[in-house]
Amino acid sequence: MAKKHYTIPVFIPELACPFQCVFCNQRKITGRQFIPDDSEIILTIDEHLLSFKEKERNVEIGFFGGSFTGIPIEQQAHYLKLVRPYFKKREITGIRLSTRPDYINPRVLDLLKQWDVGTIELGAQSFDEDVLKQSFRGHTARQTEKAAKAILDYGFDLGLQMMIGLPGDTLEKTINTAKRIVELGASDTRIYPTVVIKDTALYQWYKNGEYQPLSLEEAVDWVKKILPVFEEAGIKIIRVGLHPSEGLLSGEELIAGPFHPSFRELVLTEIWRDLLTTIPETKKQDHIEIRVPPGQINYAIGYNGKNRKRLLEKFNSVKYVGDDKLRGREFEVGL
Ligand code: SF4
Repeated sequence: MAKKHYTIPVFIPELACPFQCVFCNQRKITGRQFIPDDSEIILTIDEHLLSFKEKERNVEIGFFGGSFTGIPIEQQAHYLKLVRPYFKKREITGIRLSTRPDYINPRVLDLLKQWDVGTIELGAQSFDEDVLKQSFRGHTARQTEKAAKAILDYGFDLGLQMMIGLPGDTLEKTINTAKRIVELGASDTRIYPTVVIKDTALYQWYKNGEYQPLSLEEAVDWVKKILPVFEEAGIKIIRVGLHPSEGLLSGEELIAGPFHPSFRELVLTEIWRDLLTTIPETKKQDHIEIRVPPGQINYAIGYNGKNRKRLLEKFNSVKYVGDDKLRGREFEVGL
């Protein structure tokens, strides 16, 4: 059986980030306003380690929350050194971190290599220059491509994060961004639908009527269209949708946009909806049995039973059965 994989998140916000990405109020996204001190970091890691039940597991520490390589290089070395003992005790097997494409250079890569960082995730957001410009990202798509290549040349694994629905974005641009992520050799990705958060430029634009976020339905549809691009290339989709920090869930910070705590489930529900519409309609009163891979059964039934309800419009009764002989999204129908 495959080992269970965990990433312990350690949030290190870049307090003096000089950029002004229109969607970002970094402190609100990560739900915290201070850089944690060393004892706090150790406590976080220890608590996570204690909570893991599986003996056979891979555990990574993930430095997230800002642009790790944007903090002073001595501080980067300090954090990497701090978690070193966990490596030695074999309690963790890897380190990953997230940063900006324009914060990648040989000095930084040398340091990260020295401290055994395994994966570098870049906030690419889009490979469309106009979208990046309109979003005041402060870097170009070309810079992301160069950074991605350098990361792979150094022997790191590459993660590329993307956003959908930024100012100027279209479905076509989003699909192109997904394709570029595949072409550039990423091992994993995260997909974030853009939401409007209080005290950001986007919030002002939204209030003035200059920016309209995607609706939840649109965002689900866009992600439904790019998911297969990654799946076919074997790229791991680590996350779909913003992680619901408490601040955002309270509803005071999140002003508008396609946020849903079960966003990925909504997308997988729609993918299964499309598959299940291929079932031929027979007599209305028929019973139907659908065999699906066990791991897919919840999505085949659908969020809030949505797909089951749709089938019940055509059939008298519907039974879902998990079948471990089936792979991917294969299914079999017994009428
Ligand atoms: S998203 Fe942009 S503004 Fe926010 S922390 Fe990252 S680089 Fe800075």
